[in-house]
Order: sequence, then structure tokens, then C-alpha cells
Amino acid sequence: MASKSIWLKDSLGTEYKSLKENIDTDLLIIGGGITGVSILYELRNQNQKICLVDANKIGHGVTSKSTAKINYLQGIVYSKIKNFVGIISAQKYYESQIEAILHIKDIILKEHISCDFEKVSSFLYANEKKLKELKKEYQLLKKWKANVSFHKNYILAKDTYVFHPLKYIEGLISVCLKKKNISIYENTKITTIKKVDSVFLCECGEFRITAQKVVLACHYPFELFPFFLPVRTYIEKSYIMAFPTEYDKKETFITTYPDIVSKRYYHDSQRIYEIILSGSHAICNQLNERKNFSLFLDHHPEYLWSNEDIMTSDAMPFIGEIQTNLYLATGFNTWGMTNGVLSGMILKDLLVNRENIYAPYFDPKRKFTIAQLKQYPLNILMNAKGMLQNKIWKKKKWYKNVSFFHENGKSLATVTEDGVKYTVLTTCPHLGCTLVFNEIEKTWDCPCHASRFDIQGNWIKGPSKKSITYSVSKDK
Ligand SMILES: Cc1cc2nc3c(=O)[nH]c(=O)nc-3n(C[C@H](O)[C@H](O)[C@H](O)COP(=O)(O)OP(=O)(O)OC[C@H]3O[C@@H](n4cnc5c(N)ncnc54)[C@H](O)[C@@H]3O)c2cc1C
Repeated sequence: MASKSIWLKDSLGTEYKSLKENIDTDLLIIGGGITGVSILYELRNQNQKICLVDANKIGHGVTSKSTAKINYLQGIVYSKIKNFVGIISAQKYYESQIEAILHIKDIILKEHISCDFEKVSSFLYANEKKLKELKKEYQLLKKWKANVSFHKNYILAKDTYVFHPLKYIEGLISVCLKKKNISIYENTKITTIKKVDSVFLCECGEFRITAQKVVLACHYPFELFPFFLPVRTYIEKSYIMAFPTEYDKKETFITTYPDIVSKRYYHDSQRIYEIILSGSHAICNQLNERKNFSLFLDHHPEYLWSNEDIMTSDAMPFIGEIQTNLYLATGFNTWGMTNGVLSGMILKDLLVNRENIYAPYFDPKRKFTIAQLKQYPLNILMNAKGMLQNKIWKKKKWYKNVSFFHENGKSLATVTEDGVKYTVLTTCPHLGCTLVFNEIEKTWDCPCHASRFDIQGNWIKGPSKKSITYSVSKDK
């Protein structure tokens, strides 16, 4: 069994150099997941210098761990948006998803991107308790003339798709790199953004990028201000497995919240795989990762991994300007394939001062209703729960090869793996939460804001600016 995503099965992708000098650019895009790369693609023909940087390898963030369905049947999402912000926003969200799907299809055809893009039928199932909600969702979809039908306990849509997310990103990048105004850097982590006069000074190690405009496409922004995302969102984590099967079904399915099970198929040149997602929970809950993965371990999958996405109070993403010339695209509520592409479409218009019909609905600075504002204390409580619960429970017995201790006033833990002792700091450098050891993927995970570190303590993802490395020694 490989504790990694099926999309990382074949090492795909070109390697890009890291930044080795100070540079100036018109636009800096921070993050090379589906969001950052889609924004880059949409703006590639603008007469301006555009630089995209990624702290790791392009596409290897949350995007590389998704199930990569391209779908507008996203659970009971339209009724939720209607209840929080009204029917017009719900309809606009639906229309934006359809437009993003058509756009992906057009791009793939136009650019001849080979990314295992396939049309599939999608099923949205509900159990007895959720049937009424499912019917309401169907009525909304029908009202907007969606191509869906209602059956005993499910909605069926036949105009949905799946693809290989990394092959798609790779295709977009190869188009962009034909342009002389575009530069891409990997292993280049921005740690601070300061606005001085009218430009942004973005520090990455010993080098600096000076940019007129900046887009934060880094999933969870590493600067708390000006947007203060932790109050506005919480994070959901899910577990995914892929195993070989004989059946290549041209379908996907998903069940409604809270017991979400999601399924799709993928076939490469050699085998067909069934991909199943389950066990979703807010990251502040269920800290025992061994237990969280246990359901899947019994199936002996070939690939097993977890992934986290940012959930907003009103189920609408944040795409737009958060401060003059500073833009954000995040909060995709686990539907980032469409919303990452949509971010490119919306931000392209905003960055060239053109109107976009969806922009007001996705505006991060949109006015919040009382119902949404009521979620804010809940978000804070959830973050605090992750923090407190883990401080109390961190030494519990579920860990097999982890020992916790204090040294020089620091909280530390040692994991022993193949005779090597890896000692790390167990306090997340972001906001001080105590980290959880994920024994399956061998990562230290933050139960508050989803920063993750490898077994040695090197930063992998999330808002933490620093790593948690302490020492590595051979076990005697
Ligand atoms: C379990 C699960 C299943 C999902 N399945 C689906 C699905 O079927 N369909 C769907 O539409 N969506 C799905 N999603 C949602 C989707 O995967 C995400 O919303 C989407 O991938 C987010 O893309 P992104 O580009 O914003 O983030 P990322 O892919 O994480 O990209 C952000 C990039 O920014 C880089 N970065 C971070 N910080 C810095 C920094 N300081 N400096 C430089 N670079 C930085 C990272 O290295 C990373 O490469 C799923 C999510 C989960 C959790």
C-alpha cells in the first residue's frame, strides 16, 4: 500500500527552478494548484509580467489529493446557499459551476490537453432522513433548467465529468510557458508580504519579489491579515482510497452530508481503479488518525491518503479583492476543480478592470447575513476545540512509535521509524495548536488550520511559515 494519492502514482510534471535572485513583476500569483495555474492561464495573453511561485512542486498541494470530479451536483449545496444568502446567490452559484465546467471542456479541446477527461453520469443519493432536502434541491435545479432527473432516492445528472488533475494542470502550464512574459518558480515559499507605497514586497528566503499586484492562490493564506480567514472558515478532512477493480463504470456518486461517501473510477493505460472517499469530519474532531484510517485499512487499498479543504459559512467561495491590488481565491467547500477554474475566470476580469457577473456573489468582502455571522463564533470554537482537545489528549495511547517530552521549555516528540529517531517541535508555528501525528501518511498535522509537516518536521502545506524540525538521530 502506498500512503499517497493515486494522482502522484506516476511522477508527472516538469521541474521548475527555484528563485535565486530578487525580481520585479507586474503580477505575482502565490500557489500553483488548480487555482493559481488557472489564473495564470486566463491572464497569459495580457501584456504584463506574470510570475507564479509555489512553495513545493506545482500541483502537489490539495489539488493532487482530490477525487477530481468536475460536477455541479455538490451535495445539498444550492438549498444551503439559498438559506444563508438567498435564491439569487444560489442560482448564480449554480450557473457559475455550469460555466466553469463548459470552460474546462473548451480549454481541454482547444489546447489538446490529454488529461483523462471523461463524461460520466453522477448520482446524488440521500437516505430516508435527507430525502425531503434532496427533493428541494432537485426542485431548485429543475427551476434553473438543469439537466437532472429525480429517482426514488437520488438525483441523476448526465452532463458531469472526471479528469486527472495533475495532467490538466501540466497541460495549462505548457500553454502558458510559450509566453515570454511568464515565469514559474517551484520550491519558492513566500513568507511575508508587505505593502510599501503602492507595491508589495514579498519575501522568499533570502530573495524578494516586488509586485504591483498579488493573488493569494495558496489555499490557506499564511498572513492572518487583512482577511483573517480562521474566523470565517473551518476545515474539513476526508480519507480516500484507490484500489484496482474490473469494472470501468462511467459514473460517480456522492451521498448527502454528514455521512458523505463519494466514489469515482479512474483508468490509466494499465488498470482500472475505484476511488472511494469517506470519513469526513471537521479537523478539530477525531484526532486519532489511526482510527480515522482504520475503515480503509481493512480494504487493503493500493493507495490511501487524506485531504483537507476550507469550508465557508455560506457555502460560497471567496474569490476577489481583499485589499487594493491584493486578491484571494479560496474556500471551495471541497469543490475546487470547478471553483479553481472559476477563480481564473473571475480574477482575469477583475485584474483587467472588466465587469464579471459572478464577482459580487463571490466577493470575499461581501456583506454577511446574521445567519452567516452566527457561524463565526462556531468557527472560533471549532479552532479552539482542536487546540485544547489536542493539548489534553496528545499523549493518549493510540500512538505506537511516538514519545512526547519537554526540553528547554519546548514541547517535543520523537517518532522512531526504521531505526531513525525524528524529533520535532509539536507546537504549530502558525497559531500555537498542538500537532497530531498521522501514522499512516507519516505527517504531523495541525487540527486547527491544517498545516502539515513531514516526519522530519519539514513544512508540506498550510499557513505555517516555518518548519518544526528539531533533530534526527540513529536509534542505538
Ligand atoms: C477529500 C477531498 C476531495 C476533493 N475532491 C474534489 C472533487 O472531486 N472535485 C472538486 O471539484 N474538488 C474536490 N476537492 C477540492 C479541491 O481539491 C480543492 O478545493 C482544490 O484542489 C484547491 O486548489 P488550490 O489550488 O486552491 O489549492 P492547492 O492545490 O493546495 O494549491 C495551493 C498551492 O499553493 C502553494 N503554497 C502554499 N503556501 C505557499 C507559500 N507561502 N508560498 C508559495 N506557495 C505556496 C502550495 O504548495 C500549493 O501547491 C476535494 C477536496 C478534498 C479535501
